[in-house]
Amino acid sequence: MSYIPNPARYNQMIYRPAGHSGLLLPAISLGLWHNFGSVDNFENARQMIHTAFDLGITHFDLANNYGPVPGSAELNFGKILQEDFKSLRDELIISTKAGYVMWPGPYGNWGSRKSLLASLDQSLERLGLDYVDIFYSHRPDPNTPIEETMGALKTAIDSGKALYVGLSNYSAKQTEAAILAAEQLGFKLLIHQPRYSMLDRWIEDGLQDTLTSSGIGTIAFKPLAQGLLSGKYLYGIPDDSRMRDPHYATLHDDSLTPKMLSRIKGLNDLAQKRGQSLAQMSLAWVLRDDSARKINPVTSALIGASRPQQIIENVATLEHLEFTSEELQTIENLLIT
Ligand code: NDP
Repeated sequence: MSYIPNPARYNQMIYRPAGHSGLLLPAISLGLWHNFGSVDNFENARQMIHTAFDLGITHFDLANNYGPVPGSAELNFGKILQEDFKSLRDELIISTKAGYVMWPGPYGNWGSRKSLLASLDQSLERLGLDYVDIFYSHRPDPNTPIEETMGALKTAIDSGKALYVGLSNYSAKQTEAAILAAEQLGFKLLIHQPRYSMLDRWIEDGLQDTLTSSGIGTIAFKPLAQGLLSGKYLYGIPDDSRMRDPHYATLHDDSLTPKMLSRIKGLNDLAQKRGQSLAQMSLAWVLRDDSARKINPVTSALIGASRPQQIIENVATLEHLEFTSEELQTIENLLIT
């Protein structure tokens, strides 16, 4: 049966501007790193995209290498777009990236002009699109001058193959150099995509200030630390969890140290007192406006999911985003124990 989107899809979602730009992103975006590849269940993937869009998630994040096999998440998403979203392209923000190994030889990796622009063409082909909304340099390349990488992003915009461009995984210092190079080339970076969660706060040490003062948005990936911050590992490792998924080796049981478990348990207790699941509190925390600690808010929390119900639960986070200063302090105390 063909997909009919929920007519009320824009009623609940919160949209935030990406830095000093006119582009609004949903406070919760969906990434297709895991569970959308050729090894995964296609109908489940399709249902997750429908569920997300029905809840107002307009932004879907990909990269050339998402799969496995690399490229297959773009192919699957392209098929879903073609079959179910043909008339809805202008309601979607689709991003992709290049910078990790994608094809053999010296040009299928990192950040040269040759590599980035060839990869963008390949991504558009797999997605069946003329343009993506955001194209990222997926990681800084120590062997390519930043002016060359930024020049390739500018070409992506000038050629109409990307509406906006961004950085991912660049440090504060590398970001400053990229901002300067972009300025000199006459364009502006829209957004940065760094890792950020209660368990991984490196962006608070400079990067977030740089982005805010330069008017660049932040979309935080792994906001649930790949599921560790959902509470699902509190009482063992479920068979249907990422930690047990044979197709992915990105989350390992050695992360479940006694210290980590006791931290997660404390956070879970606090979440329950707030009337939220731990996943919801963790996402609310990523999206918080903590001016007392001078932490600038991020634009969007970029979640992953393995089933539609998780997306429903995670979007319900938006019903309770506020923290009292006592709650924030309790979290600080739990994170340093
Ligand atoms: P998360 O930290 O949100 O982890 C997602 C995983 O957590 C899910 O697949 C699921 O795992 C579990 N989960 C999610 N919601 C719930 C819930 N409500 N209850 C219980 N478990 C839940 O993010 P990801 O690690 O998936 O990364 C998100 C996106 O960020 C990626 O898809 C990608 O777009 C982007 N990313 C970017 C990178 C970059 O270098 N720029 C690197 C990595 C990711 P389970 O299978 O156990 O159910």
